[in-house]
Amino acid sequence: MVTDNILNIPIQSLKTLHKSLNYIRTAKLWLQVLIAMFLGIACGWLLSPSMGLVSSSTADIMGEWLALPGRLFLALIQMIVVPLIFTSILQGIAAAGDIKKLKKTGLSATFFFMSTTVLAVILGISVGIFFKPGQYIDTEKIVQSDTAKAKIAAIQEQSANQSSAEDVSPLKQLPAKFTGILPKNPIHSIAQGDMLQIVIFAIIFGLGMLLLKPESARPILDLTGSIQEVSMQIVGIAMSFAPLAVFGLLAQSVITTGPESLLGIGIYALAVIGALALLYIFYIFLAFALGRVSPIVFLKAIREPTLIGFSTNSSAATMPITVKSAEEGLKIPTSLSQFVIPLGATINMGGTACYQGLTTLFMAQIYGLDLSISALTALIVTAVGASIGTPAVPGVGIIVLSGVLSSAGIPLAGLPLILGADRILERFRTSLNVTGDLAACVVLNRFIKSPNDKTDG
Ligand code: ASP
Repeated sequence: MVTDNILNIPIQSLKTLHKSLNYIRTAKLWLQVLIAMFLGIACGWLLSPSMGLVSSSTADIMGEWLALPGRLFLALIQMIVVPLIFTSILQGIAAAGDIKKLKKTGLSATFFFMSTTVLAVILGISVGIFFKPGQYIDTEKIVQSDTAKAKIAAIQEQSANQSSAEDVSPLKQLPAKFTGILPKNPIHSIAQGDMLQIVIFAIIFGLGMLLLKPESARPILDLTGSIQEVSMQIVGIAMSFAPLAVFGLLAQSVITTGPESLLGIGIYALAVIGALALLYIFYIFLAFALGRVSPIVFLKAIREPTLIGFSTNSSAATMPITVKSAEEGLKIPTSLSQFVIPLGATINMGGTACYQGLTTLFMAQIYGLDLSISALTALIVTAVGASIGTPAVPGVGIIVLSGVLSSAGIPLAGLPLILGADRILERFRTSLNVTGDLAACVVLNRFIKSPNDKTDG
């Protein structure tokens, strides 16, 4: 056997290895990301303290270093996401051309988002009622250790900061909430990274722009067009190390949460993943039945954004890839994709809503609480509102969930049970949130067409 290297590996094997590596290097991004995900999970598993290969402090340090490219990746995307969302919405509005068409698109998108989100909560609740995941949990498991108590206190505090004035009736709070979403100082909203306010500012600004004479609007359009292009270039640079980022982020996630965090509450985790799988099928069905896009084409187009959503835990960070896939894979006109996707990334969270409905039921079952029809109706309304308000960034969904639980009158003491698994389950719901935005594009594209529509693809 011919060997010509210090490890004594046969030349033929080296050639095959080189060929495979080359294949992976030049493969499509989704495939690279998928491979990176598996390798990341495997690496995290090997290094996780339960495997006993390295001590838990060494595993922690290694996890931090492995996650470094991913953190840089996320920071780069987060840095660019505000100008990108703002300019994309302006360009989307400008491409729509006139206010009448925009009104139709805006109203149809809102209708689609709301109705599918309501259905998503109902789906979550139904899976909860049907499978009763809470009945398998031993209430003794709700350990009241000091760390568990400290975690609940921290979540409660953050949740209270988000929705203060509990004692004021919700009906009285509503008008203030409406005025609250209008950014009084857009620069402040940008500095705070408040996506909902930024989106609203961009829409109002874009509408104002449509009322101008074309020659007066041109400079703004040219400038925002250039900013958008620069932002996309930066996204392109970030994407070139997406597989490495995904590998490290997942490895660290498995090291810190450990695969056992899912196993401990297996039935609940399975119920969440099952409910989200049904929601996935529902979106594919909508794209097919209403959007007339075959499941194969739809699945092919959405694989990249859903994998990136899964890996980054953030629909906002995934937004640029979602827009690209909509335009290139699904041939959605820019006027639609650049308006609907940034809006959807901010307010359309079917996956989150489904999860909130199911988890509330799960917690109620743990405490033996029976939710009446009116409590379930209130839950649907709260979960729809809460999913709209959930920021499209990692790790905040659980805080919003605690608000939903409190308003349903469910004690928060059970939260530590799902804390570990939440970071993993959040990945699934983020993928679903992204899928929902793409399904919306496909459906709206069939019903709202304009002669000057153009795609990038
Ligand atoms: N992280 C999710 C997203 O960005 C939201 C959630 O936590 O449910 O879509």
